[in-house]
Amino acid sequence: MQVHKYDVVIVGAGGAGMRAAIESGQRARTAVLTKLYPTRSHTGAAQGGMCAALANVEEDNWEWHTFDTIKGGDYLVDQDAAEVMAKEAIDAVLDLEKMGLPFNRTPEGRIDQRRFGGHTRDHGKAPVRRACYAADRTGHMILQTLYQNCVKHNVEFYNEYYVLDLLTVEEDAVREDGTPFKQKRVAGVVSYDLASGELHVFQAKSVVFASGGAGKVFKTTSNAHTLTGDGMGIAFRRGIPLEDMEFFQFHPTGLAGLGILLSEAARGEGAILRNSEGERFMERYAPTIKDLAPRDIVARSMANEVREGRGCGPNKDYVLLDLTHLEPAHIDAKLPDITEFARTYLGVEPYTEPVPVFPTAHYAMGGIPTNITTEVLQDNDTVVPGLYAAGEVACVSVHGSNRLGTNSLLDINVFGKRAGIAAAEYAKTADFVELPENPEAFTIQLLDVARNANGTEKVSAIRKELQDTMDANMQVFRTADTLNQVLKDIESFEERYTRINVQDKGKRFNLDLLEAVELGFLLELARVMTVAALHREESRGGHFREDFPDRDDEKFMKHSMAYKEDHAPADGSAEEAIAGVRLATKPVVFTRYEPMVRKY
Ligand SMILES: Cc1cc2nc3c(=O)[nH]c(=O)nc-3n(C[C@H](O)[C@H](O)[C@H](O)COP(=O)(O)OP(=O)(O)OC[C@H]3O[C@@H](n4cnc5c(N)ncnc54)[C@H](O)[C@@H]3O)c2cc1C
Repeated sequence: MQVHKYDVVIVGAGGAGMRAAIESGQRARTAVLTKLYPTRSHTGAAQGGMCAALANVEEDNWEWHTFDTIKGGDYLVDQDAAEVMAKEAIDAVLDLEKMGLPFNRTPEGRIDQRRFGGHTRDHGKAPVRRACYAADRTGHMILQTLYQNCVKHNVEFYNEYYVLDLLTVEEDAVREDGTPFKQKRVAGVVSYDLASGELHVFQAKSVVFASGGAGKVFKTTSNAHTLTGDGMGIAFRRGIPLEDMEFFQFHPTGLAGLGILLSEAARGEGAILRNSEGERFMERYAPTIKDLAPRDIVARSMANEVREGRGCGPNKDYVLLDLTHLEPAHIDAKLPDITEFARTYLGVEPYTEPVPVFPTAHYAMGGIPTNITTEVLQDNDTVVPGLYAAGEVACVSVHGSNRLGTNSLLDINVFGKRAGIAAAEYAKTADFVELPENPEAFTIQLLDVARNANGTEKVSAIRKELQDTMDANMQVFRTADTLNQVLKDIESFEERYTRINVQDKGKRFNLDLLEAVELGFLLELARVMTVAALHREESRGGHFREDFPDRDDEKFMKHSMAYKEDHAPADGSAEEAIAGVRLATKPVVFTRYEPMVRKY
């Protein structure tokens, strides 16, 4: 085992991690640990755009953007955080422009902007052009630009280092009301070097989690194979709560049967959803902004069309995305990649044929709770000094119960930057915390469980069954019965997980072993999501309970905070454990918008 010492360690080299690294690297000694080579991170797959109220092509301002974000999130958004994001959006785009990002331009040479779901002019009057973009490969451009700038600033990368544990110590502290408690403080992280199979401990004054999402708990997903929620899982196991995990976004337009994403930019450029009768059905569900309603509403409307028998195809199980009225030259200029996906994966020619689509699991609104400075919360009132989180792994919460398209590329830039600055500034004043004795012990045990299990169960089989039950029971529509079914299934998967068989016994590039570890994270997170969904007996944003179809502000206008059984706050505020998870709540921050009924 080797020990390294850095002021700041950043876990993840996607958009959030690298945006943080650019700031931190100029202020403090910084290392970025990433399980993927940086430019393979999922940010590079992002397609449609990154929004900011630049008002380059029509009137717009950050206040409208704030309102849309809050309404889009069905009022579960922390309004102070949404204000920060919408205000800082403008600089976030200009920062990237100065770093060299080749945005699409207007004829006058300004950054061009296009429409996206839920982004409106003057509080919902009509769609507004707010998304800055580089064709339909905006994320690719962001990731490459950030990486080049990290190289320019000599950021040190440890590529294909899997972080598997967070090291903290507990110190005696006293709350404002005089009650004593144990406060966690960061000491570092433990990582596994894929190439050698060796463990590396990184002692650090600050740790930033920027490890991305957890879409692989579902079968039909737009997410890459690697999005297994490691950061959320690690934090949860170490006693950090997870916020709003019941809210998972299903993006309306995944290629039917595959889940590969067709960006909302298609509808932003004018594409239309149709059912088997050729009807533009979104006119019924969202008369004002139709196909450009927020994703939760469009996804649910599509699923409803299919349920009511107006689905297309031999099994009537998808709807159609129609681009045939758009000029081929326009499609080629604005949507080249995604139309190619339709040709390659479905054999459909979007110039002349509508494309089969159905909702696909896309984005985790929940995650590691932070305040607007990106400091991680240990409970509602206390931060963990030295620990930060940003990007999809975090819940700040700017997306509430449903994220608007293009707000995530924005989130990773705004809060990634904030995290990099905050972590480096903290490291300037703080001392290193002594590493716990045998810092690698927990990780060795984790790996040994996977390595030495000589059972017969296959990791891939358990993962598939987990994804199947999540798709069947935790997707767009949920009920207590379906959720209890998931919990029952997970219990049996976890039992089988103790009897897995990892065939590769070697040390080098043992992906077999790491997939087993990743499955452990997926099982843990699926359990947390399902318990939180069971508890929320209302429908809001991406969480729709058929047995409780209305939003219930009186009971549920609050964030859920899921704690691992032994780590819940001692003040009695957390519920009894279900499946090892205890739920508490956290108030939503309101600044200027009262919750209203959401109509579009
Ligand atoms: C297909 C697709 C299209 C999208 N299009 C858009 C869009 O147009 N606009 C928009 O706003 N949003 C879009 N999104 C969402 C957005 O791209 C993501 O939410 C965002 O890029 C996440 O960035 P991130 O930096 O948090 O994580 P990621 O980019 O996923 O990076 C995660 C990083 O963490 C590292 N990591 C993970 N686990 C570990 C570990 N255990 N140890 C070490 N490192 C680890 C990985 O190596 C990686 O570097 C899209 C998402 C998808 C999937």
